[in-house]
Amino acid sequence: MTTRLPDEVPEAATLEFSAPHNWCDRRCERCLLSPECAVFLLSERARRQEIAAGRDPDSVESIWSRVEQQLSATVQMLEVECRDRGIDPSTIEGRERHASCEELEDQASEYLIALLDLVETLRRNPRALASMNLSDVDLDEVSGYGYLIAGKFGRVASYLTEEGILDGEVAAIDGAPNLLLIRRVLNELDELLPVQRLPRRPAAYLAAREDVRRRLEPLLAAVTGACDAHLEQLVRLGRAPSPFCVATCGS
Ligand code: SF4
Repeated sequence: MTTRLPDEVPEAATLEFSAPHNWCDRRCERCLLSPECAVFLLSERARRQEIAAGRDPDSVESIWSRVEQQLSATVQMLEVECRDRGIDPSTIEGRERHASCEELEDQASEYLIALLDLVETLRRNPRALASMNLSDVDLDEVSGYGYLIAGKFGRVASYLTEEGILDGEVAAIDGAPNLLLIRRVLNELDELLPVQRLPRRPAAYLAAREDVRRRLEPLLAAVTGACDAHLEQLVRLGRAPSPFCVATCGS
């Protein structure tokens, strides 16, 4: 399944993104596409099986087991999608890892570490949170977004050429929406943790945040325009996943 738009939307007719579960935030509980999403439905089935087997579906073991199954299902679905489009999946798995790929992964890891450090500091200091007017911030959500950003940067990194640009059909259909997702989630994180309200100390977080934003800029510049327009149309049609379309407040 891809997110090809209906034929009556001519300006988007030649552009496609990979299936939405490849560029969502996995917050299925608020995602408009969950009733038809294979990843969500598989996860729910696994959850019901855990309950039927007398296990706690919310235990750490069960959650990790479902994550593992979801990852495996996602890879299989992406492979099927590639085959449907005449792309040899082995050309993806066998892609050479360039220095640009490792550099981006390292930056994403540094960003995640700095963000988790900041979250831990804030968690230990509720008074500081209150003084910054951030008592209501959901720190688990902040951490989750950090993991998501780092993971998505890793995915985008796997598509980079030696010159550090996205190249190839899979990069176009899957790398592009994932870049739009990273941009969206970074902006949401800035709303959850406004940098102007943070104490001066999280220099490591601010530096890492700047690094990933600087790195994102040229990658985004190469895909925005047509991709943004395509995403906007998907959002208008309610065909984009969370966080672009959510059950409670739209896009
Ligand atoms: S967030 Fe939406 S698209 Fe992503 S896995 Fe969940 S239901 Fe599927």
